[in-house]
Amino acid sequence: MDYDAVVVGTGLGGLSCAAILAENGFKTLVCEHTDRVGGCCSTYEYEGYRFDIGASVVELAWVIDELFGRLGAKTSDYVDLLPVDPIYGFITADGRRFCYPVDVEETGKVIASLSAKDGKSWEKFAEVGSEAIRKAHGKVMTKPMGSVRDMIKAVADHPSMVKFLKYFVLNFESTLCSFFRSDDVRASMCLQSYFLRLPPALCPGYVAFLAYSEHEGIFYPRGGMIAIPLGIARVYEERGGSIWFNSTVKRVLLRSGQVCGVEMTDGITVRSRLVVSNINAKTLYLEVVGEENLPSWARRAIRSYEGSMPSPVIMLGLDAPPDLDAHHTVPYSTLDFMNRIWFEDYLNDRTPAFGAGLISWSTRTDPTLAPVGHHILNMIAFAPYRPAEGDWDSIKEPYLERQLGVLEKHFGLRLKDHVVVARVNTPKDFERILRHPRGAVYGLQNDITCAAAFSPSVRSRAVKGLYLAGASTDLGGGIVPTIGSGMVAADLILRDFA
Ligand SMILES: Cc1cc2nc3c(=O)[nH]c(=O)nc-3n(C[C@H](O)[C@H](O)[C@H](O)COP(=O)(O)OP(=O)(O)OC[C@H]3O[C@@H](n4cnc5c(N)ncnc54)[C@H](O)[C@@H]3O)c2cc1C
Repeated sequence: MDYDAVVVGTGLGGLSCAAILAENGFKTLVCEHTDRVGGCCSTYEYEGYRFDIGASVVELAWVIDELFGRLGAKTSDYVDLLPVDPIYGFITADGRRFCYPVDVEETGKVIASLSAKDGKSWEKFAEVGSEAIRKAHGKVMTKPMGSVRDMIKAVADHPSMVKFLKYFVLNFESTLCSFFRSDDVRASMCLQSYFLRLPPALCPGYVAFLAYSEHEGIFYPRGGMIAIPLGIARVYEERGGSIWFNSTVKRVLLRSGQVCGVEMTDGITVRSRLVVSNINAKTLYLEVVGEENLPSWARRAIRSYEGSMPSPVIMLGLDAPPDLDAHHTVPYSTLDFMNRIWFEDYLNDRTPAFGAGLISWSTRTDPTLAPVGHHILNMIAFAPYRPAEGDWDSIKEPYLERQLGVLEKHFGLRLKDHVVVARVNTPKDFERILRHPRGAVYGLQNDITCAAAFSPSVRSRAVKGLYLAGASTDLGGGIVPTIGSGMVAADLILRDFA
């Protein structure tokens, strides 16, 4: 069987790249290990409740519009993005509640009620965040940043980016603290560092502006998060692309150091002069390409990356609406607590108390995801792959009990009596379901040593005809960065194979 391109994985990076290739006349095949599209941005039905497996919301949706635009299509014809407002509800350990709405000025008033001084600082923070998105972030999101040359070019083309470079040097914590004084306000914006699966002390400073970028609008797709990859897959198939589900790629086949196809676990081989990998870069190089096929510098380089922090997800089907105020709720955690999760718990293989996580109430925005009158809550937390408490398969039940207990005791959330369905996807489940090694759902550890020019290259330097898209590439994890990575990979391929 011959294809111009084979893409390994239907994550957002893989699908976005495949769709652009198909639009440009490449005979393209996407091979997917599971029975559905989307990887971490997918939705699974259990007992009548449609649970999102990972991602719970999308922001900076203009990147999605850019993708559909490049495919000659309109986002709204394929995906119905429902606005989410307020962005977050907060519950403090002493029972106070407040929300951050999308409106920047209204959020300023809420912040001013916590600290008058920080209400003013929010204006400055929002101004810098807005300018960074328009002048810098927007320019790099869908452009190659995988080499020092790309980075210098991006800055040379957009000199106004220079003033934001300090946020690549500062960490998340010092960036946040340089704007805000009140512990309450800092606490309300510190969860975002874990959106990169890093503590505030290790996360790059520019990530702190996520607390602003959400105010450009956040959305939930009607039908669950899978609606985004389903929409991209529909355009891809309309452009003649094929997807094989339940098809796991075992090997990338090489001839004289050049890609010549892939071999599936069931023995089928597909010939192709180029392969796009949407899987974890370490797994790709060390197992699927095979480290014996790599030059020694590449072996050493790829081994040096750490995997990202795993994220257990608790999924609850409830027979009544939860006592919450927003699609997303953050049980309050301080900056110090967020750092301790990493340095005291994670690095010592302990599962932290739930205070660190995010609660996502998807049926608040799309009630059709559950039976009439019923609701869905996802609780996204952070934990090690091998907890000292025991193997994940044996501690699932006690883990669930403990997390529900913490929510009830510390945040007054009584959920237990309303639980109809409860599932926990542990790091081991992520490894089993999506083949994320050690449950590393964000690919590699997304710190500065793995970003931009320091990340594995989109166009492989070690294997000719091999390209990478998805969370292991230069912009790291997240819906929009991975879609952007797919566009970057496709552009390089179109240039190389013109
Ligand atoms: C719990 C959680 C919450 C998140 N919340 C958000 C959020 O709210 N907003 C946001 O923007 N981002 C969020 N993210 C991150 C975002 O979902 C991911 O970064 C993004 O979807 C990853 O896309 P990807 O292209 O890297 O592919 P992945 O999603 O990693 O998909 C890779 C695909 O490859 C397949 N595969 C693996 N190995 C093989 C093989 N050998 N052969 C064939 N197929 C294979 C897998 O089955 C999978 O479908 C969250 C992630 C998680 C896990």
